[in-house]
Amino acid sequence: MRQRTIKESIVFEGVGLHTGEHCKILLHPEKENTGVRFLVKGKYIPALYTHVVSTDHSTDLGDGSREVKTVEHLMAVLYLLGIDNVTVEVQKGQEVPAMDGSGFYFYKHLKTAVVDLNADKKVLYVKRIIRVDNCCASVWVQPDEDFRAVYVGYLEGFFDERSVEFDGNIRDIVFARTFCYDHHLPLLRRKGLARGGSLKNAVLLGKGFVYNREGLRSEDEPLRHKLLDLIGDVALIGRRLIGKVVSVRGGHTLNHQLLLELSRCL
Ligand code: ZN
Repeated sequence: MRQRTIKESIVFEGVGLHTGEHCKILLHPEKENTGVRFLVKGKYIPALYTHVVSTDHSTDLGDGSREVKTVEHLMAVLYLLGIDNVTVEVQKGQEVPAMDGSGFYFYKHLKTAVVDLNADKKVLYVKRIIRVDNCCASVWVQPDEDFRAVYVGYLEGFFDERSVEFDGNIRDIVFARTFCYDHHLPLLRRKGLARGGSLKNAVLLGKGFVYNREGLRSEDEPLRHKLLDLIGDVALIGRRLIGKVVSVRGGHTLNHQLLLELSRCL
């Protein structure tokens, strides 16, 4: 499997989900073994678990003085398209633009820009189960023949626990938008989060109903979004993972803890 980059620079622009700022990023092609990195105010921040500075409702990267928030949806799409080498120049704002709240626009514009480079992909083979837990959730990796991902969860007011799986078809998950329950909004606002959130870039859920007039894009869209988040967070290991990652009700914090454990295998 070859390393990949993009053939030309690509711009994404729009409101940041949490900051509410107008954000503009430019993705630039890079040569082999550069990795994915963010360029923030003249300094490079590698898209790696070692530079995660927050996992509170988004995965944020930083180096102490500079930060870029909510990298996970873009990271998931780069990972699923196999794009290993790219510089993401953060031109305006401090966040990856939310677009429609999913990975769809990143996918739509990046999929035709992918080019192979003359080097083999860096690969991490999962050889044993590595697992992290908290009181009510678990995330683990286990050996498999290729990269796979599973999310198990329930949707309060809609359905009990069920699972969604990524088994190679990127279109199964890139459309899935970020979501929030109406009764969680006050807490997010108190934390200064979701300032850019609206029905244009997020699904708002009530008890058994959806505020968005267009409804859900699939019955299990929120679970598929959690799967997108999981893949975007796992991408921060910086290698193609050959193994299956499974999350039972997990989120960004547990995903990050898994990478800290997994990094011992590097
Ligand atoms: Zn998300």
